[in-house]
Amino acid sequence: MRFPFPRAARTAPPAAAVFSPADSPDSSDSSGSPGSPGSPGSPADGEILLETVGLTKAYAGADGALPVLSGIDLTVRAGEIVALLGRSGSGKSTLLRCLSGLIPPSSGTVAYRGTPLTGANPGSALVFQTFALLPWLTVRQNVELGLEARGVPPRERAEAAVQAIDLIGLAGFESAYPKELSGGMRQRVGFARALVVEPDVLMMDEPFSALDVLTAENLRGELLELWESGQFPTRAVVLVTHNIEEAVLMADRIVVLGSRPYGTIRETVEVDLDRPRDRDAAAFDELVDRVYRIMTGRPKETRLPGRADGARPDRRTVANTPLPTASVDGLAGLAAMIAHRGGCCDLADLADELGLDIDDMLPQLDALDLLGFAEIHGDDLLLTEAGTAFAGADVQESRTIFAGAAVDVPLVRLITNGLRGRPGTAVHAGFFRDLLAHHYTSEQVDRQLETATDWGRYAGLFGYDAALREYRLDEETP
Ligand code: ADP
Ligand code: MG
Repeated sequence: MRFPFPRAARTAPPAAAVFSPADSPDSSDSSGSPGSPGSPGSPADGEILLETVGLTKAYAGADGALPVLSGIDLTVRAGEIVALLGRSGSGKSTLLRCLSGLIPPSSGTVAYRGTPLTGANPGSALVFQTFALLPWLTVRQNVELGLEARGVPPRERAEAAVQAIDLIGLAGFESAYPKELSGGMRQRVGFARALVVEPDVLMMDEPFSALDVLTAENLRGELLELWESGQFPTRAVVLVTHNIEEAVLMADRIVVLGSRPYGTIRETVEVDLDRPRDRDAAAFDELVDRVYRIMTGRPKETRLPGRADGARPDRRTVANTPLPTASVDGLAGLAAMIAHRGGCCDLADLADELGLDIDDMLPQLDALDLLGFAEIHGDDLLLTEAGTAFAGADVQESRTIFAGAAVDVPLVRLITNGLRGRPGTAVHAGFFRDLLAHHYTSEQVDRQLETATDWGRYAGLFGYDAALREYRLDEETP
């Protein structure tokens, strides 16, 4: 399918990558000549469309800049689907926003077809997890929005929108309003809205993760079919995901982002499987396993100094040991499950059996490791002696065992020692918040304090009054 405009008229030439109104195709261009060979029109397969060099990004925190991404060197070429894979908080969305020019990097460069960006990337369009559709506009009008912003006249706009709607499987829904649509249909409108501008690079930020399993699988399949058929009006796709199977299913290249201490490229994996890919094939499985290992394995320099590798526990600090978001209940459940399997299991198999994504499970695994309840070797997890005892204990024993482990966790220790230094006095949560704000964003501070409070309370180390937002030593604490 072709859209009514020749691609060349819609693709900003590199020299104009800094957008000005001149980048918007105007109506007189729409009948203009398509890109001749050698013109900056449609990029040839293999041409570098996006390139970051030494990209870092830090957000402003209470106490100066908080680094989120560091040393990112990435290229995206015409003809490929690149997945940015990482756990929640590893900076995937931040990187995508830098690539689309919505936010500037703190240092380093992002270039589109060789020209550094100084504003929104004229060759990209974004699809989000949930697309903000305007409820008072029909499907067609919502899809037309992107073209309207580029100054495309009404008739051609409508024509292009109808074709994009058709392409993405929404024919018949042109005049429906968003509230009449299912989640999957709404997400299709999001795709149509991005595709209608024929971006060189389609950028998607976890586009399937808000959909139910079947709808997501169906949409993935349809998009891949379109991509393979050559009907896809874009030259490259950047897909942000935390789902390993999704990355292996869709991508030609998987860029694995690590999050300790902040987002860096841990490894890039080429996916050399024929399409359509078979999730049940041994090669598919092997690749999923390999990526699991890359995501769970901790490179030496960022390994938590803890008991597992024999380092002194006092080397761990609040700054280098963020508390993973994991409830005591969840940890106890997971420990019991592993104990049931003989105290040792393959992480990939476990996730599979539980029907979980890696993203759902890693905080729990980190927590077990941090507490000294488990050791992770490659993709195997081993319960330690303490972990086995914790898994098999009754409620009272379990609290005692947990207390012995939690008191060595830096943030729990900070709160406990803070209170012990002032016997009989309550300490306001704000005190600990301020200390943490030196190292973390306020969202991270909230999450970590929530976890520390859960752990400390269960361990009987301290109490917390949520109404007053005050911590107190637990009276019974020895
Ligand atoms: P991901 O998409 O991999 O989950 P994000 O890029 O959204 O990761 O976030 C990376 C880190 O940056 C997180 O710790 C998040 O809390 C922080 N962060 C994201 N956006 C902002 C912002 N606008 N201001 C401050 N911190 C932010
Ligand atoms: Mg994100």
